[in-house]
Amino acid sequence: MRAVLVVLGLAGCAELGVISDGTSISVGKASHGYLIDGARLPDQGEGFTTREVWQRRNNRYGTDELIDLVTGVARRMATHVHDVKIVVGDLSGLGGGGAFAFHRSHQSGRDADFVYYMRDADGKPFEPDAMHVFDGKGRARDQTGLTVDVPRTWLLVKELVAAPEAPVQYVFMYEPIAQMLLEHAAKIGEPDAVIAAVRKALKQPGDSARHDDHMHVRIYCSDADKDYGCVDYGPMEMLAQRQAQTEATFALVSGAVSRPAENRSAFDVGSPPLTSTSTPTPQAPLRSLLRTGADRIDLRGWR
Ligand SMILES: [Zn+2]
Repeated sequence: MRAVLVVLGLAGCAELGVISDGTSISVGKASHGYLIDGARLPDQGEGFTTREVWQRRNNRYGTDELIDLVTGVARRMATHVHDVKIVVGDLSGLGGGGAFAFHRSHQSGRDADFVYYMRDADGKPFEPDAMHVFDGKGRARDQTGLTVDVPRTWLLVKELVAAPEAPVQYVFMYEPIAQMLLEHAAKIGEPDAVIAAVRKALKQPGDSARHDDHMHVRIYCSDADKDYGCVDYGPMEMLAQRQAQTEATFALVSGAVSRPAENRSAFDVGSPPLTSTSTPTPQAPLRSLLRTGADRIDLRGWR
């Protein structure tokens, strides 16, 4: 997203004859592309961790925007969820490309896998040890008794879709789990506009990649990277909507993410009051709107 210098006639560090200023460039499609000067996601950080299997593969590289998104969302989730961390699986390999047998996409630094939030057989929060395959009711198929933690996973996808760090195009997810999240959101009185925005991002790619054991986040190309060959594939709706948002409206939706409303306990059982210092502060006129209840405001731009 930052400035990139084009140096004609010089041997640049990249195939395009481009010398970047040290920031990343995502080239091509997520399913056919590569990554220049990608950033590496640390194995541990505030609110997130990974497991040895993914550490060993070292598919931990992404664009600057993707790394900012993962670390930013994890940091904000840590203000809601205190007892477990988000477990982050594969991103892209160093330099991207398709040399890794594990994924068809994940090539251009704009994809990241998240393990679902889980509960153990006793219903207690459980920091995932690995991916587990879930059935249509969110129960692990491997007899461990694990279940998808629906309230927390809802909060995570909502954070992703509203995150200021990068516009999310997709959150690939098993459709029955997506349905459980959306039903939960309606039940706790989330604003229609927020539910509609998340609904657009949630997608099950197909039966061959059902994403019943993890969710997979893809971000759009940054404007700067598009000039250097980054290619978005699929609906551009989420990006267009993001760009159409006024700053104030976006702040309103972000505010809804951290709204310390009556639903707090559903997200944060047994934890101190939910607070967020990293959410943009709504403009003054919007504060009074918020006090009237964000769920009664029709945000057409998000539909
Ligand atoms: Zn994936």
